[in-house]
Amino acid sequence: MSLPRETVLKELGLSPVWRLKSLDKPELPENAHAISGDDTGPATDRRAQIQRMDWPELKQAILTCTACDLHQTRTQGVVGVGDEKAEWLIIGEAPGADEDAQGEPFVGQAGKLLDAMLAAIGLKRGENVYIANVLKSRPPGNRNPSPEEVAACLPYLERQIQLIQPKLILALGRFAVQSLLNTEEAISRLRGSVHQYQGVPLIVTYHPAYLLRNLPDKARAWEDLCLARETMASLKS
Ligand code: URA
Repeated sequence: MSLPRETVLKELGLSPVWRLKSLDKPELPENAHAISGDDTGPATDRRAQIQRMDWPELKQAILTCTACDLHQTRTQGVVGVGDEKAEWLIIGEAPGADEDAQGEPFVGQAGKLLDAMLAAIGLKRGENVYIANVLKSRPPGNRNPSPEEVAACLPYLERQIQLIQPKLILALGRFAVQSLLNTEEAISRLRGSVHQYQGVPLIVTYHPAYLLRNLPDKARAWEDLCLARETMASLKS
């Protein structure tokens, strides 16, 4: 699907289209094996254990994780949402208040804009798209994630990427981009090119929450979405 540019920019900026989200809450098997952060020894052992998990184990581990202090203040862990075999993987920063309450990524205002951004390139939450965050637990007051929190949580995202095997990753905002590309470069310098995350093409764009506050950068985000759409088309041709 492709929409006229004006329609898309209008959707992204002035009147985002509100779309139904699909409910894809993880169902935990009764015998799922919980691996929390506390009981697994050194970080490398824990990472190796996470690398061996299947989806039910991974979901359970995230929901019961105590590897950082965020478990003390979160309502629940937020695993991710969507098609677990999606070609598109969208990665944000961390759950906010709405996501912490509902257990699903990007369900607040930034999520409405993300849904509009996806619609602009013919995508819909839950249909060939998986949405996840770097952090699975909400930082109190929506403060920035600490390096320790990112380090503790990243193995979960790494495993999600291995299980999903997406064709393309769209990284939203500084924390997702810098964590995945292991760089401190600004988004403004990284966007516009196709990067690689462990052999998976990765495209960088601004975080929807940032775009809600910085209207002029929506035009740049639209360029990034077009690059993502073109890159996916070339990967499939
Ligand atoms: N911002 C994010 O980065 N992720 C969410 O899930 C919600 C807001």
